[in-house]
Amino acid sequence: MPIELPPGSAAYSDRNPETSNSKLLILLGLFLGIVVGVVGLIVLVVMNLVLLIPPSMEQRIGAIVVPGFERLAPDSSAQSALNQLLDRLEAGLSEQQRQGRDYKVLYIPDDTVNALAIPGDRIILYGGLVAQAQSENELMMVMGHELGHFAHRDHLRSLGRGLGLQLSLALLFGDGGTLSKLAASSVSALSTAQFSQSQEREADEFGLALLQKTYGQVAGATDFFARLSQQDKAAIAFLATHPASRDRVQHLEQLIQQRQYSVGSRSPLPAALQASP
Ligand SMILES: [Zn+2]
Repeated sequence: MPIELPPGSAAYSDRNPETSNSKLLILLGLFLGIVVGVVGLIVLVVMNLVLLIPPSMEQRIGAIVVPGFERLAPDSSAQSALNQLLDRLEAGLSEQQRQGRDYKVLYIPDDTVNALAIPGDRIILYGGLVAQAQSENELMMVMGHELGHFAHRDHLRSLGRGLGLQLSLALLFGDGGTLSKLAASSVSALSTAQFSQSQEREADEFGLALLQKTYGQVAGATDFFARLSQQDKAAIAFLATHPASRDRVQHLEQLIQQRQYSVGSRSPLPAALQASP
């Protein structure tokens, strides 16, 4: 072990080069710290600028990303039934929340257990999720949650910085070839987008409030998440992109108590959804 000599002793002066090295390291560290700080600040500003995007601009982004999902969601009785449910849920939105919006469900009949909110006012519901639902109320909660992402504009953030930049460039320069390529890549980018725990929590609260407005009670609010918490995380797309279901159930139960919502009975699924694949 080297012996540490106090500053000023004869041996210490021999170590001067090392001292300047460590000064250099400190300077480098400071510099890196500043760079990280500045980049972080830019990201924060960009995230908040997203909130300023007017719905009209959002529709134009939607026009690029929606067709990729529409191709996967052909007309079906399940899709119509889901849109009828969504219409009822929308009646509970405020005037401001509905302004300039044209919400629709796109039902993709495959085994994926997931739901998404994408720019262009579309809620994507996959067959695997709908097949698990055991009541209308449960589906309404999932759709209300997605409407919450729209209200809080989380779906725009989920475009990701890279894709967002490409999209803005393509919109600015109107490059058709880039647009169609982007349409394809946006499907996968949006499908795997991950929101923060607090974004999810706020979307859950939004869904719960909407459930209360629609039914006058909140039966089924936690059903979907409770069932998910019993399942294998790796196999379920929804779990890969959403925080722990058990915590969400607990948080929702707390809210139900705090707000003194009543819990009545569940409504059965519309016929078109009971037989869905
Ligand atoms: Zn969510």
